[in-house]
Amino acid sequence: MSEQKPPFVPSATPPTWLGVMGGGQLGRMFVHAAQAMGFKVAVLEPARDCPAGQAADYLLSASYTDPVALNQLAGLCAAVTTEFENVPAQSLAQLAAHSFVAPAAANVSIAQDRVAEKRFFTECAATSHVLPAPHKVIENEADIDAIPDDLFPGILKTARLGYDGKGQVRVRSRDEARKAFQDMRSVVCVLEKMLPLAYEVSVLAARGADGESAVYPIAENVHRDGILFSTTVPGPNVSAECARRAQHAALAIIGKMEYVGVLCIEFFVLQDGSLVVNEMAPRPHNSGHYTIDACITSQFAQQARAMAKLPLGDVRQHSPAVMLNILGDIWFENGSPGSDMPREPAWDKVLALPGANLHLYGKDDPRRGRKMGHVTFVAPTLTEAQENFACACRILGIPL
Ligand code: ATP
Ligand code: MG
Repeated sequence: MSEQKPPFVPSATPPTWLGVMGGGQLGRMFVHAAQAMGFKVAVLEPARDCPAGQAADYLLSASYTDPVALNQLAGLCAAVTTEFENVPAQSLAQLAAHSFVAPAAANVSIAQDRVAEKRFFTECAATSHVLPAPHKVIENEADIDAIPDDLFPGILKTARLGYDGKGQVRVRSRDEARKAFQDMRSVVCVLEKMLPLAYEVSVLAARGADGESAVYPIAENVHRDGILFSTTVPGPNVSAECARRAQHAALAIIGKMEYVGVLCIEFFVLQDGSLVVNEMAPRPHNSGHYTIDACITSQFAQQARAMAKLPLGDVRQHSPAVMLNILGDIWFENGSPGSDMPREPAWDKVLALPGANLHLYGKDDPRRGRKMGHVTFVAPTLTEAQENFACACRILGIPL
């Protein structure tokens, strides 16, 4: 193993292998898409039973930093990607010595660190025309004293390892910020001004190894308790002008990084209509799951194409779509596990609704707030998709 392997074509004989760092649901849906194209897929993940491992052709159960496992993955696979953004960038760099790695470690490491990410977004603003929320980097107590007054009320977010609203505290004052910083054991944080959001959107962009890029239709997202609740495309609140600006920004950002693969960028739309860039995920994203059922090329098939140095697929949407995230709460009466009776969600009733596509991730241990699956409703009109989504929520006992 010394040089990068040559480019290849799908469905080749003998089979070509693609690798994934991480064994969660994003990896599982990637495995399904890549296998449908004829690839074999290997997954590296510490857990022995994991959603992607259940579907993969080969599961390497090892730590993300295990040098022997990394060499094995790189040796087997023509290209490797990551489904879990906190895979150490160093491991991706090690893989890159022997295999094509997309996205590259340098890109993933920007998205792993809110400080680097916000700095990068600010650098991109000349061409993207969007800025991150006003913020201050907090490395020590003195930085808290130096926070401008107009950043309060704000949100203190850890620079690293936050997801689904974890690692965030809302703070109204400098004293609250000081206490929250201490509670977070003084790890590097970002204090962000709390903005008056009208709604939230995300844009999936993809860039191929040939430098061509493509952008999916903009998605409107609703979060509950910091976790994505639903995604609607086309978004009922999104104007054509807002979509154009967000898509332009996403293409500017992905181009500036010379990124290869699928990238998701989250934006806030403020009450005055202005657009603010929040964060990016260097991989397919929960808000892009609608592409499986509603677009010509799903975000996972797109990732396989980009990794395999093949042309990007058509990103057009063929049907309006509403995606509902399925959390572990609905496996329990009143949505509260522990104290309440377990129950099986009424999938028979949900699947009787027109245009329903159920995706469960193979997790057999439902827990509150745990992402167990999603259902996407597609229909000839957005109104019909929304009506069926609302029926599913009623059936599953999810308040609207
Ligand atoms: P993800 O699961 O998307 O990775 P995360 O935990 O990394 O989430 P963010 O996306 O930064 O965190 O924030 C989670 C949610 O909190 C946002 O989707 C938004 O609803 C709200 N939020 C975050 N920052 C702000 C802000 N500056 N002003 C207002 N609301 C905010
Ligand atoms: Mg987010």
